[in-house]
Amino acid sequence: MPLTRRRFLQFSAAGLAVASAGCQPPRLELQALEMANDSRLAEKARLARHKNRFLGYPVNMSTPPEAFFAWRRQLQETGLTRFAYNNVGNPYHHSPIPFNTHDFERELIENFAAVYAFPKDDVWGFLSHSGTDSNMHGMYIGRTLLKGQSGKLPKCYFTPEAHYSIQILTDLLGLERVFVGTLPDASMDPDDLARKVNANRDVPALVVATTGTTFKGAIDRVDAIKAALGNHPHYLHLDAALFGGYLPYTEDAEEVKHKQGRYDSIAVSCHKFFGFHSPAGIFITRHSTFETFNRLFSRVHTPEYIGHVPGTITCSRDAVKPAEFWFFSRPEDRPRQRQDAKHMLTMTDYLMAQMEAHFPHLRPVRAGQTSNTIWFRKPADWIVEKYSLATMTVKGTKHAHVVVMPHVDRQVADAFLDDLAQEHAA
Ligand SMILES: *Cc1c(COP(=O)(O)O)cnc(C)c1O
Repeated sequence: MPLTRRRFLQFSAAGLAVASAGCQPPRLELQALEMANDSRLAEKARLARHKNRFLGYPVNMSTPPEAFFAWRRQLQETGLTRFAYNNVGNPYHHSPIPFNTHDFERELIENFAAVYAFPKDDVWGFLSHSGTDSNMHGMYIGRTLLKGQSGKLPKCYFTPEAHYSIQILTDLLGLERVFVGTLPDASMDPDDLARKVNANRDVPALVVATTGTTFKGAIDRVDAIKAALGNHPHYLHLDAALFGGYLPYTEDAEEVKHKQGRYDSIAVSCHKFFGFHSPAGIFITRHSTFETFNRLFSRVHTPEYIGHVPGTITCSRDAVKPAEFWFFSRPEDRPRQRQDAKHMLTMTDYLMAQMEAHFPHLRPVRAGQTSNTIWFRKPADWIVEKYSLATMTVKGTKHAHVVVMPHVDRQVADAFLDDLAQEHAA
């Protein structure tokens, strides 16, 4: 008997009730969806069964623990998601809109600021719409501060391995780009940075370092970059969209630690390592940096309407996500994240060893022991399709990569290796 929409809704409500009783919720709901007579929903449910095969982009496809969903339900009971909340403005300032979650937003920023070793009493940040949005705020703050100090627009330095959002943002911010060369592992070459900065000695440098480059998984080394910049006027923004989530639990933890000014601001995506269900981004800088910025920012607009200089480029901001994502910022959640980080890197070790042993013709490359990314010659299109692999032309040859996220287990890895073997045998 086909389910009517009404019966389907009853069915999934029953599924939720079972879920809160601690049984296995996803399977029940998926069955209900597959039986639903809405073909779009049925297709989503079918796809969801194969979500763990998603290997080509840096998204954690694991379902968060049941405690997270219990927390969401608690938030819903207070009215969040049921009527309009709004986090407009600076989360550290009184808001004229009482329906906000600035309290959770501040706490999650402070929790992550501790992970990234910011000075405890000198932290500012907010939960942005995405990694790109966090990069935009970092670059805008850097541009504003450097121009405020010198009267000159900075040039923006980054490598061709940086995420494409940086190219868009330099255009948006009207900044001249200076491409910095890379070392063999695809990380920024500090000597080339020093040369290029020297060639542009009359203008300040806005440097975007990538902690975990998008296709090759390389880490631009902060200390070497700082040494190359010396006392040339600069602002250093760290784009740690993917690696920023798990690096704190690895031997490269230092790379994301602020420690009295190794970098000026950091961007981390919430939906990548953490497996948050919807795009959002962490943005953190020092409170003192923010204050100087905000004085200059107040000159470009008149925010009397909300009673304070908002501190953010975007006005209305989501109030639901900070309250939900707060769950992942709690110190109690860190052991789980540490375990996920370890699992990812162990699985990457395994996959890399297997590929090197059995498919050397694909020339697999891993930038380093803390990278979860392996790039290699592009396999057959059906494999690219089946695992949603990202592809990229490197030195004239098509390549693909896998990004090993917490949902990738031995079963998925072996299925992928079997498919590579099948292609090789064909
Ligand atoms: C994913 C990614 C981005 C973009 O982040 P979004 O959250 O997708 O906007 C920027 N930089 C790097 C290095 C990334 O991996």
